[in-house]
Parts: sequence; structure tokens; C-alpha cells
Amino acid sequence: MTAPVVGIDIGGTKTAAALVDRGGRVRERREVRTPARSGPDAVLDAAARLAAGLLGAATGPVGVGTAGTVEPATGVIRYATDSLPGWTGTPVADALAARLGRPVRVTNDVYAAALGECWAGAGRDRAHVLLVAVGTGLGGAVVRDGRVEAGARGAAGGVGHLPAPGAERLRCGCGRPGHLEAVASGSGLAAAYFLETGTQVTGRTVADRAAAGDGVAGRVVDRAGAALGAALAGLVALLDPDAVLVAGGAAGALLPAASAAYAAELPAGWADVPLRPAALGTDAVVVGAARLAMDSHDIERTDR
Ligand SMILES: [Zn+2]
Repeated sequence: MTAPVVGIDIGGTKTAAALVDRGGRVRERREVRTPARSGPDAVLDAAARLAAGLLGAATGPVGVGTAGTVEPATGVIRYATDSLPGWTGTPVADALAARLGRPVRVTNDVYAAALGECWAGAGRDRAHVLLVAVGTGLGGAVVRDGRVEAGARGAAGGVGHLPAPGAERLRCGCGRPGHLEAVASGSGLAAAYFLETGTQVTGRTVADRAAAGDGVAGRVVDRAGAALGAALAGLVALLDPDAVLVAGGAAGALLPAASAAYAAELPAGWADVPLRPAALGTDAVVVGAARLAMDSHDIERTDR
């Protein structure tokens, strides 16, 4: 089979679909705002409309990476946050298959990003990878021998809920205080900046202000990066990966401080495990979703 396949990325803000060729390159990409407030059927309709426009040039199943925890066997959403109201319980695989007339394979969006990076991005030369995605929240995925380790409930890789020094006064997306996501994420940057200044801005604005020389914003970003880097160094000892990849919209801001803390904290036996920025940007999820569609057994060694 040489024809491209379609990968879909369903997020709380944007939904994208892309035609991805057999080398992992995006040939065509379409994107709309996710109609999250209109409910799951509207979200599925929007994703199906985007994908349908690309299906004529594509072959085989369609792959999906979506926000939320996905039941690996059924493609049903086990749990999703309020970024997609009502998404919990949605049978995404069956509902999209009915709309598209093709088989549909579904995984978590961070898992898809990890598959994409290991196929065609910053992890392409590596079999064992830890990827963390620093966006509004903080997610992770563990790739072993080219496959994502999903765990018992499709939720492995939740690095955001590790305890983190300095997060004691900050609340995580899960509702508890003290977790890494409460510091090392876009919402964490915004919360820490608010505590220091009383000013309510987005995490992106905090990162922009830090880059422009704002001292308070710079300290907030450095603390977040340092917490992330130290946690990743410990996780390297637990997981023994070939590489650690940092993806997501806040990755660039956090990487300098994260790299320094990571290098300082990494146990000597793992001193050669690199910490790298992810390479595929906003295409990582559609590329990984396409990879999932091509081969439910994920990535074979012959591809490297
Ligand atoms: Zn948490």
C-alpha cells in the first residue's frame, strides 16, 4: 500500500485532519475550531467533515488522536476534562466509522504525538522514548520498542501528577495541589505569575514577557522549567529511555531551564540520554494518528 492515510487531531480548541504519506509527511492539512460547547455530536460532525474532504485521496483506516483517556480496545473516551464537555463516554471510533464508512482507530492525543515523533520526528532514531507535552496542561507518553505503553486503563504517562517541590500552593488540573502540572504548564505559568503580581494573563503571555526581559515572568518560567527538568531526570532512571522529548506550546519557553536542571539531576548512569525539543510541532498528532491507522502494531523496526 502506498497511498496516504488520514489522521485527525481532536483538541479542546482546534480540530485538524491531514493527509499523511507513507514517509510521515503531511501532504494536506485542514483545521477548524472545535465546536466543544455544542457537545460531542457536533465535535464528531466537524471532525468527520474535515476528514471526508481528504478521504478521496486516502486508503485504509482513519486514525484519531483526541484529548482524553481512550479505552484502547474500543476507542471509547474513558475520561475527559471540561475542555470537551460531555466527551467522557463518547464512542469516538464507532461514531466516526459510521460517519466516514471506514474503520477508525483512536488514541490519546499525547500518545499520538509520541507515535508521530518516533516515526517521523525527533524520536525517529530511537526505540524507547519518553515524551512530555507542555501545553495548557502537562501530559506524557512512554514509547517502548516503538509502541506506546497505555497501562491498565489507557492512562499511563501521566507525568503531570507527580509531586513537585514549589507546587504546594498551586492547584493541578486534577484538582489536587502540589503536582508538577500545577507548575510546568501554561496554566501553571499563569497561576504562578498571578500569585506574584496579581495580574491575570495566559501562560503564553507569561512566556512572551519572560522572553522580553520581564524579571518576574522570567523567574516563573525558570522555576517551571527547573521543576520539569528535575522530574524528567528522575523519570529517566525509572524508564531507561533512549531519549526524552519535550513537545507542546510551552516547550520552547521551558526548555532552557529544564535542560539545565535535567543535566544537573540526571544520575550518572544515564548521562548520555538526550533531552530534545520535539520536531513536528502542531503536526505531531495528525502524523501519529495516521501512523496508528497504518499499523495498529505501531512502529516496526524496519521503518528506522
Ligand atoms: Zn494532578
